Amino acid sequence: MDISTICVHGSDKRYDTTGAVAVPIFASATFAHPGVGRSTGFDYTRSQNPTNEHLEQTVAALEGGAQAIAFSSGMAAVSALMEIFSPGDHIVAADDLYGGTFRLFAKISQKNGVKFSYANDLEQIKKEITPATKAVFIETPTNPMMNVIDIAAVAKITQDKNLLLIVDNTFLTPYFQRPIALGADIVLHSGTKYLGGHNDTLAGLLVTKDAGVGEQIRFIAKTTGGCLSPFDSFLIIRGIKTLAIRMERQQETALIIARWLCEQSKVTTVYYVGLPEHPKYEVSRRQASGFGGMLSFAVQDEQTAVKILESVKVIKYAESLGGVESLITYPMLQTHADLPESERNARGINACLLRLSVGLESANDLIADLGQAIGGSA
Ligand SMILES: *Cc1c(COP(=O)(O)O)cnc(C)c1O
Repeated sequence: MDISTICVHGSDKRYDTTGAVAVPIFASATFAHPGVGRSTGFDYTRSQNPTNEHLEQTVAALEGGAQAIAFSSGMAAVSALMEIFSPGDHIVAADDLYGGTFRLFAKISQKNGVKFSYANDLEQIKKEITPATKAVFIETPTNPMMNVIDIAAVAKITQDKNLLLIVDNTFLTPYFQRPIALGADIVLHSGTKYLGGHNDTLAGLLVTKDAGVGEQIRFIAKTTGGCLSPFDSFLIIRGIKTLAIRMERQQETALIIARWLCEQSKVTTVYYVGLPEHPKYEVSRRQASGFGGMLSFAVQDEQTAVKILESVKVIKYAESLGGVESLITYPMLQTHADLPESERNARGINACLLRLSVGLESANDLIADLGQAIGGSA
């Protein structure tokens, strides 16, 4: 079945007999047992709930995984994932990660005895692997610099060494990129972003290639309790129904805006993986069926960056991404504020860098808004 059909209908399993077309919100913390030692398949919502199960099975189908487990946020999903590791275990992570993931690794997981090394290309990933290494953790395209990592090439390394490959697929979603088919073992989503798609709900998901790893994570999820509420689960299910057309339109507009930004005299660099001049354009074309709706750009000076943030009207100056409303972010002060300044600068996350999540407004209105905000550069 085509992925856009799976988005609309989700998993086939139905939980009621009314013929309800939309999967109901099962607002029940607990489920009555038909007899001693018997269960309807549902006991307590922290373990499982029909609305959540529908979401999980839908996302597992979209990603081509054996299991998906839903969490109350993307960070709750990463935190649960870290529980599969033990003190002394080592993880090689890509060095341009979502700021919250970096903060979790540095401030929580490290304190719990898990060790991290950071790498920014294949050679470095290989070099950082030690006998204690258990996993490689990447995000592609990266946030906010839009670097692209060749998932299949990393998978070759992890399969050789028997390591888990974990891929944060929040930016492209399974609509454009399916890491498990490229060799990943675990896929991570902040469902808050494109899957939900409306800037109104927090959610996270882990998808596993292997049923066994899935069971291991499900045990951690029900034990640590960061589960998604059935109400929020319903909103993510509803969001996914329109994922295909949102991704298509957001990508189309992102390309128009990226090309327009390239022509502005006050814009010094445009980072969008869909521009043929992007250094990893061919890798993107090979491993993904689209380029997504996220782009970053650098302007000539800090003053111009601040003026843009304070002058946009249609576009909102706010954290987050992937929703119907276009959002502009100042990575230095927002998503990546916890990264040490020297590391931020080394990655190009400086006072001149802005990140734009392209929403569903018309391209003309977004360009007019950016135009008046940048001012005098046409
Ligand atoms: C937002 C985000 C997260 C964290 O998800 P939350 O839902 O905000 O907890 C993780 N990874 C990426 C790439 C993100 O954009």
